[in-house]
Amino acid sequence: MFDALIRFVREQYATNDFIPLHAPVFPGRERDYVLDTLESTFVSSVGAYVDRFEQEMARYTGSARAVAVANGTAALHVALLLAGVRPGELVVTQSLTFVATCNAIAYCHAEPVFVDVERATLGMSPAALQQWLQDNTEIDAEGLCRTRGPDARVVRACVPMHTFGHPADLDGLMEVCRRWNLVLVEDAAESLGSLYHGRHTGTFGRLGTQSFNGNKIITTGGGGMVLTGDEALGARAKHLTTTAKQPHPYEFFHDEVGFNYRLPNLNAALGCAQLEHIEDFVAAKRLLAQRYAELLRGSALEFVHEPTGCRSNYWLNAVVCDSREQRDALLKATNDAGVMTRPIWQLMNRLPAFAHCRRGDLSTAEWLEARVVNLPSSVIGG
Ligand SMILES: *Cc1c(COP(=O)(O)O)cnc(C)c1O
Repeated sequence: MFDALIRFVREQYATNDFIPLHAPVFPGRERDYVLDTLESTFVSSVGAYVDRFEQEMARYTGSARAVAVANGTAALHVALLLAGVRPGELVVTQSLTFVATCNAIAYCHAEPVFVDVERATLGMSPAALQQWLQDNTEIDAEGLCRTRGPDARVVRACVPMHTFGHPADLDGLMEVCRRWNLVLVEDAAESLGSLYHGRHTGTFGRLGTQSFNGNKIITTGGGGMVLTGDEALGARAKHLTTTAKQPHPYEFFHDEVGFNYRLPNLNAALGCAQLEHIEDFVAAKRLLAQRYAELLRGSALEFVHEPTGCRSNYWLNAVVCDSREQRDALLKATNDAGVMTRPIWQLMNRLPAFAHCRRGDLSTAEWLEARVVNLPSSVIGG
C-alpha cells in the first residue's frame, strides 16, 4: 500500500526529486505586481496593493470588511481583542489545532479551554462545547457566561478552527454560542476558498481570520487578514493594527496603544496576484483529493473527505491510519522515500504553555492525534 501511494504521489508531481507537503506556486502576475512595488518605491506600510488586496478579499469571501495584517497569528490576536477578550477571561477552542490559535489567546492574557473535535469534520464539536459549558459554567445576572465556583471566570469567546480546510459544523457551533452568549471567532487560516452551505468560512463568526503564510493555499510570504461583517469593527481592526494613529496630514497622535501589524505593500502585491488564482487552486486541490480518495478506496488508509453540505479547499489532504503503529510505518516509508508526510499536531493540552488549562473530554482528538497523517498537497500544474 505504502509503495503504491509513494508511486502515485511521484506520478502526480511528475518528479523523482523530494516532494514537499505543500509548496507555493506563482502562475500569474506575481512577478509583475511585486516588481511594480519596487519601481514605485512603495514597498512598505503604505501603498495601493494593501487596499486592493483588502477589497478583493472582502469581495471574494462576501465579507463586509477585510483588514490585512502581518500574519495569521496577529489577525487572531486583534480579532480576539475586538471580540472583547480581556485579561483573566477564558476562550474555548479545540485541543486539535495549530499552536497559533492558543498563542493568540495567551497574547490577550486570557486562557484557552480545550474541547473535543468531531470525527467527521476534524473541527470543534458543538456537543462537546455544549457539554463543557453545561458542566462548568452558568449565565450570570449580566447575561455573561461564567465558570461556577469561587474563582468565577468570564468565558468570552469561542474559536473553532477549520482543520485542513474542512469546515466545522458552524450551524451547531453558532447555536451553542448564542445560547451561552459567547462571541464566535473563526480561525479560518487553513480554509480560504472553503464553503459551508455555500458561504465562505471566516464570515460566520463576528470575526474571522486568515493566514497567507508560505504553506497556505495562497501566500503573501507572510500575512493575514481579519474578516468581519461589522463595518465599525472593521474600522477598529484597521485602527488598532496601524498604531492607532488618528488620520492627519502631518501630526502624530495615537489615541491608544496600537499595534504595528500592517501588511507591507510588497506582500500585498503578491497577495493580489495569488488571489486571482484562488478558484484554480481550489479546483486543482479538489481534483488531487478525488484522486487520492480513489487510490485509497477500500485500503487500510481512510481518506478524509469534506463534510456533507460543504465545499472544502482540501488545503492539506489527510488519511486516518488504523493504529499509531501503522501511522509510524507510513510516516517512515514515505519520508524515507523523499515524499514528505507528517502527523497531525500534538494536542495543545500536551504543550508546556497550555498543560494547566481547563479541558473537557478529548477522546476523539486523542484518537485522531494518534492516527492522522497529511499527504503532499501542493497545487499541481501551477
Ligand atoms: C497557519 C495558521 C495560523 C496562522 O499562522 P501565521 O503563520 O501566523 O500566519 C493560525 N491558525 C492555524 C490553524 C493555522 O494553520
